[in-house]
Formats: sequence, structure tokens, C-alpha cells
Amino acid sequence: MNNPHLEQPADTVARLRATFRSGRTRPVDWRTTQLRRLREMLTDNGTELAGALHADLAKSSTEAFRTEIDATAREIDHILGHLDQWLSHEPVPVPPHLGDAKAWTQYDPLGVVLVIAPWNYPALLLLTPMIGALAAGNAVVAKPSELAPATSAVLARLLPAYLDTDAVAVVEGGVRETTALLAERFDHIFYTGNGTVGRIVMSAAVRHLTPVTLELGGKSPVFIDRDTDPMTVAARLVRGKFLNAGQTCVAPDYVLTDAETARALEPALVKAIEELYGTRPATSPEYGRIINERHFDRLSALLDSGRLVTGGDRDRAAKYIAPTVLADVRPEDPVMQEEIFGPVLPLVTVSGLDEAIGFINDRAKPLALYAFTESETTRRRLASETSSGGLGFGLPLVHITVPDLPFGGVGESGMGNYHGRWSIETFSHRKAVFDKPLS
Ligand code: NAD
Repeated sequence: MNNPHLEQPADTVARLRATFRSGRTRPVDWRTTQLRRLREMLTDNGTELAGALHADLAKSSTEAFRTEIDATAREIDHILGHLDQWLSHEPVPVPPHLGDAKAWTQYDPLGVVLVIAPWNYPALLLLTPMIGALAAGNAVVAKPSELAPATSAVLARLLPAYLDTDAVAVVEGGVRETTALLAERFDHIFYTGNGTVGRIVMSAAVRHLTPVTLELGGKSPVFIDRDTDPMTVAARLVRGKFLNAGQTCVAPDYVLTDAETARALEPALVKAIEELYGTRPATSPEYGRIINERHFDRLSALLDSGRLVTGGDRDRAAKYIAPTVLADVRPEDPVMQEEIFGPVLPLVTVSGLDEAIGFINDRAKPLALYAFTESETTRRRLASETSSGGLGFGLPLVHITVPDLPFGGVGESGMGNYHGRWSIETFSHRKAVFDKPLS
């Protein structure tokens, strides 16, 4: 039987484990076939997937292709272009007293991998870890987010139609189904989502001593230096912040800058928002919606912070919250107590770089830190005196699209990383091999 809808989690894992043990997923040919099929799936069904992303998040077709479908296809192409090279054995020197012995490292697949995805980029964040796990020669159980039900349903139908169903299973569902899956023994668990559930996943993994990758979130700060041009900064900041209505794990969460720069930035941000979404963002096809009422209510409660510069209007029935900027926000205001994960940008005033670095280091390590500055000293200081999953100067978000950079958090923003060859590292065991000839 290979219909995971009718199977118990234990049977699904046992079935995939049997496939893995048969050796079927190990040959590079099998892996590249799966990746090519996945690419075909995206080409054949891109429009349908974009429709599902629109149904779940009101993502425009342009955004759906750019940030999810095409981004996934690029990851496949990158891995297909380098896989042979990445998988080759790496010889290492042996000490002279071992004579004619040889030693090398090789990448071994781990076995059966569980991938649990969130709702904000529900296709990209299910498929990208799967691509890495398959490229590394594993079997995969994929659990899409129930909070993006249209995308979950399309992926649950398409993936089995294109991939080897003896080695890949999609299990739809929410807390109950995920809890049942987590009771099983996996060889790696890759979780993307919030830190509370991240802790649940890690606790479940402890029982089987299963390694985990946790791709979490947090408040990603943006430092803006006084030597910068407000219009350039605002245009770039607004694009990164309000993409997907702010529901992006690496979105700029809040701004740290001095009072004078903040004052210059305020009208520039208003103008940049207008240029991107017009004077009535509610009617812009490019502007997304909040995933559900629960998040709408959570975000509404955060608006009562600082001074409103622009936005603030909302419509619960439409799950619409306008692109909003708040100035003079204090660290103790509601909007500064949790990851915003929505279209609200607070400006927090600091005296300068020293205070900004102190502010960042007093809080949980973020998934990303951004800075706009012309000063090489400031860049060096931010790079060496703060800790974050990634660091981006001059343009938010895009560091995650550089194929050879690892993507992942540190501390509260997560553990482990992936993308390209870093996915091969994550989903493989680097085995040490030693060989001494017998004669
Ligand atoms: P979500 O609610 O969709 O949850 C993620 C997954 O966890 C889902 O598949 C869900 O079924 C499962 N889940 C929920 N409750 C569970 C439970 N009690 N036990 C087991 N599984 C459970 O998504 P979310 O957590 O709201 O996502 C938003 C968060 O994710 C934000 O903090 C964001 O920053 C973070 N995020 C991080 C990344 C990254 O790559 N680092 C990417 C996207 C989102």
C-alpha cells in the first residue's frame, strides 16, 4: 500500500525505511531523477500552485513565481549542476607511521527524513528542504502546513504523481497528525516555524536521539546610519518589509536609527510605500493578506505602539492590514515584545552605533541583521560585535537567494542550516573511511 492518507504514521515510516534499506535511494541517478521530476512538476503546474498561493495568502502571481516556484526551480538547478562534485570522496593525508594506508571522507545518506513546513512560503519551505534531503539520498516524509490548506492540498496531490512514492510520502494535517509523526523514529527532522513548536519538535527528537534542524524566526533588526540617503534606504526597506504582507521569516522587523535620521526617513517611507502599492494598498494586486483571523487579531494589538506615521487601517473580514510605520517606538511597547511577522514597521531611536549594538546584543540572536551604512568601520563592527543567522548590508532578504550561502539561524532563531551544498551537509553523515592494504 502506498496511499499515505490511509496509512498509519508508523506504517508510512516503515515503508519508506524499507525502501531506504533496499539501497534504492543511494545512486546519484535516482536522486537526480527525483530532482528533475520535481522540476517538471513545477513547470507543468506552476500556474495551479500560484493559484493555491493566492487562495492562501493573496500572493500575486508575480510574487508566487518569484519567491516560491522559480526560487525552488533555481535551487534544483543549482544542486543538479554540482551534485557529482559535492558528493565526491575527499582524500585526506594519513600520518607517515600508517605507511601506505589511505583515508577519505564520504557523504552517507541518513535514512528517513521528516520535513515539517510553515504557512508563510508554504511551497518553497516544504520543497527546498525536500530537495536537499533527496539530493543527499534520503527517503522523505513531507508535512505541509495546515494553515495554508490550498497549497497543502495541491502539493499532496502533485508530489506523489511525480516522485517515487516508495521513498517520498506527503502527510497532511495539523497538530494531531504532526504529533503522531513525531512519535516515530526518523534519522533527521527538519522543522521550519516558530520557537514554541521548535521546542516540541526537539523534545520529541530527544527520545530517539534524532538530529534536528530548526529554522525559526525572531525580531530581525535594521540599523540605519546617518550618512545614508533616505529615499534609497526607504525604497529597499519597504520592498523587503512588506513582501508577503510582512510574513517573511527574514523580514526586517524593526529599525534602529538616530532621531534625525528617523525624521528624514518618515516621509521617505510613506513615499516608498505609495510608489510600491499606490495610495490605496487595499486595492493593489501586489499586496498580500494576513494568513488568518488569529494572526490578524495578534497584529492589531501591536498597532497600539508609538506614533502612527502611515497605515494603521485594517479590515478583519478581508484579513487586510495596511503597510504601517510607527515612529518613536519604545523598547517596552507591545510591538517590540515579539516577532511582528506582519506589515508593521516600528522605528526605535538610538543615539548611534554603540547603543544599537548594545540593543541587539541585549536581545535574542536574530535570524537576520541588516544595516544601511557607507562606513566600512560600521560594517566591520556590526559583523564582528553581533551574532545573527545572516547579515545583510544595503538590501534586506536577498542574502537567502545567494545559492552558495548557508541559510539558518543561531540561538533562538534556530540551529543548523541548508541551501545548495549546505543541504548536502545537513542531510548526510560525513563518514570517515580508513583503508590499509593487507599486503
Ligand atoms: P505553522 O503554524 O504553519 O507551524 C509550522 C508547522 O508546525 C506546521 O506544519 C504545523 O502543523 C506544525 N505544528 C504546529 N503546532 C504543532 C504542535 N503543537 N506540534 C507539532 N507540530 C506542530 O507556522 P508558524 O510557526 O506560525 O510559522 C511562523 C514562524 O516561522 C515565524 O516565527 C517565522 O519567523 C518562522 N519561520 C522561519 C523560517 C526560517 O526559514 N527560519 C521560515 C518561515 C517561517
